[in-house]
Amino acid sequence: MLTRRDLLKSAVAAGVAWSNGSLLATGRYDLLIRGGRVIDPSRRLDRVADVAIAGDRIAAVESRIDPSTAAKVLDASGKLVVPGLIDIHTHARSKEMPSICLADGVTSLVDAGSQGADLIDSVVDTARSAPNRVRILINIAKTGILSDGELMDIGRADVMAARQAIQRHRDLIVGVKARLSRSVAGANDLEALRRAQEAVRPFNLPVMVHVGDTVSPLPAILAELKSGDIVTHLYSPPPHGIFDDAGRLLPEVRAARRRGVRFDIGNGRIAHITWDVAEKAIRAGFLPDTISSDWTDAGRAEQVFDFPNVLSKFLLLGMPIDQVIARGTINAARTFPAFKDLGTLRAGAPADVAVLELREGRFEFVDNANTPRTGRYKLFAAGTVIAGKQVRPT
Ligand SMILES: [Zn+2]
Repeated sequence: MLTRRDLLKSAVAAGVAWSNGSLLATGRYDLLIRGGRVIDPSRRLDRVADVAIAGDRIAAVESRIDPSTAAKVLDASGKLVVPGLIDIHTHARSKEMPSICLADGVTSLVDAGSQGADLIDSVVDTARSAPNRVRILINIAKTGILSDGELMDIGRADVMAARQAIQRHRDLIVGVKARLSRSVAGANDLEALRRAQEAVRPFNLPVMVHVGDTVSPLPAILAELKSGDIVTHLYSPPPHGIFDDAGRLLPEVRAARRRGVRFDIGNGRIAHITWDVAEKAIRAGFLPDTISSDWTDAGRAEQVFDFPNVLSKFLLLGMPIDQVIARGTINAARTFPAFKDLGTLRAGAPADVAVLELREGRFEFVDNANTPRTGRYKLFAAGTVIAGKQVRPT
């Protein structure tokens, strides 16, 4: 007859060791991340603890787990241990970019509209060969991003071409992106957005709109958004940002949030965020739902640098660390159904973990106006685990 011990052993072998959510004294873990400050906003957890991994799943998070139960031990003392970071607005235009993000602790990312239907296969190839989870927002303009404005010619917003591309890559495409600024869409902003909504309708997917200096006022754009859609660059400077001329937060912005529209940062480099707007909004209690980098090759060299750097800017702006981490983990996971199991260290979740260092000192950060500010804290990537595999030693 099988004893309870045998049953537990076979459960471990079957990879279901985590199912009772407790430490299995009988089993062996594959990896133990020891002694770090575990911040998991999905469970309101912020304390020193050990994280055990079995196979590609989180097995347990406990105050102390016997290291002799693990095949491999990673010492995280003095560091933060958080769910694998999720950056919902990046541009994975080259094959190397996802790996670079992975070393930054980013285990999942979204390419936000780099390509449209014409060249979608190039982003799809990058996503398929990436070591982390790359998902795609397809640009409603079939040309993808053009430096002189892909939506200046509204004929490029081709609903059928976008739908066909989504259909072909249903596993990777998680929504449609529409860049609506004056320099991208001119007076076509609302029509482009309507076409983006038409493209996603049969698939029930979200649209991400890039706002800031649009021809149409923001409330007219918000009126075209449904629950689950995403506004990126929410802290864009005027004209047509989230404040009226008197500096009050537009009531339509709060109303949009109440009906389920999500608001994202998209740091980027040009006219997407200024300290002034961010500070004013945070003071008004209008925090972002998600923090994202809008990372490109150029951003790697200035302003953006990496995702932990972007997150650190919000520490400087006065947000507590757990709230900052939430916006790069669980909140980001909740933005896309494709990420629904992610952004958490709950037992049974995919074993995606970022180990970060929170250094104290004097660190300079800039906004998109290149205005420097000095912060006291900065996050640095110190190691990544994806699907239970350690990417870079801490
Ligand atoms: Zn972008």
